[in-house]
Amino acid sequence: MTSHSSLQIFHGAKQEGFRTLGITVGKPPRHYDAFPLSKPDRWLELKDYHELMDRADELVAENVILIPHGSFVEYMGGKNYEKLPVPSFGNKQVLEWESNRTMEREWLHAAGLTMPEEIKDPKDIIQPVIVKYHGAKGGRGFFIAKNYHEFMRKIEKGQSYTIQEFVLGTRYYLHYFFSPLREQGYSVDGGILEMLSMDRRDEANIDEANRLGSINELEAVGISPTFVVTGNIPIVLRESLLPKVFDMGEKVVKESIKRFGGLVGPFCLETVVTDQLEFKVFEISARIVAGTNPYITGSPYMDLIEPNLSTGRRIAQEIRLAADAGRLGEVCS
Ligand code: AMP
Repeated sequence: MTSHSSLQIFHGAKQEGFRTLGITVGKPPRHYDAFPLSKPDRWLELKDYHELMDRADELVAENVILIPHGSFVEYMGGKNYEKLPVPSFGNKQVLEWESNRTMEREWLHAAGLTMPEEIKDPKDIIQPVIVKYHGAKGGRGFFIAKNYHEFMRKIEKGQSYTIQEFVLGTRYYLHYFFSPLREQGYSVDGGILEMLSMDRRDEANIDEANRLGSINELEAVGISPTFVVTGNIPIVLRESLLPKVFDMGEKVVKESIKRFGGLVGPFCLETVVTDQLEFKVFEISARIVAGTNPYITGSPYMDLIEPNLSTGRRIAQEIRLAADAGRLGEVCS
């Protein structure tokens, strides 16, 4: 599917010697012509994503393995994707756990991670909060309130929402990979946990709002901050925090095994690191994230695992390893 992290996924699959099929709605985007090392060998053109359901047999006959990324699941719809009878990399059961905010919280809490505090009653707002409307997409439809009055002034009636402590610190998005197949490395439950890279998202217009004035000044002229992702910036973490990163990843994987048979492959913890050097995790994405895109030829962490690695390539390696060992069923669903 031609957005999000597709360039990287195709490139990585080709590096590992796979034939590649790009799925597109309408004509293939022209920019693939500009990137020959990422251009899929063949395109499947659809009228709309639902057509994929009708063409599942064709894909199965060609031994296709789908690599789901955020946009793909979003466009297909979670329910359709779960029903799609084409082998897909990763454990589809994770979808429900990550897309339902209550279940996601339950999972991460049970794993022992610290999350931003949730405020049930707006009257209890005594510190800055971020209010997230349910179903808000791409960081649009969130707002910040510093007290109850500001909340009441900004809230749109009739919409359901969650109120979360606004965590001040630095936003780091940690890109992990769990392999149930490899044995050499940071062992977790019979597999290994890898730390492949980290990024920070560039978000419009919050990240550059200060070019025009303080948020208060902007709001006075009717401009509210938005959190729309426009790009990704590489990050290297203060090294003494790495043990905490592995500890969090390990706990998330172990809890996922208990709850739904386990995460497989890439996942990302979205965190804010406070000035007390504490990680507060506000979300998990249980698949490849676009924040891995700055690292198509390696990251400061991947370079210490294998030169010229990317998350896309790492996925292809896992599929290759599973296929060779007759264990595809353990990494696909
Ligand atoms: P999300 O849709 O939950 O990934 O959030 C979108 C963006 O809102 C994040 O990338 C952060 O910039 C910001 N954000 C979300 N939750 C919090 C929080 N609890 N504290 C501070 N910023 C947050």
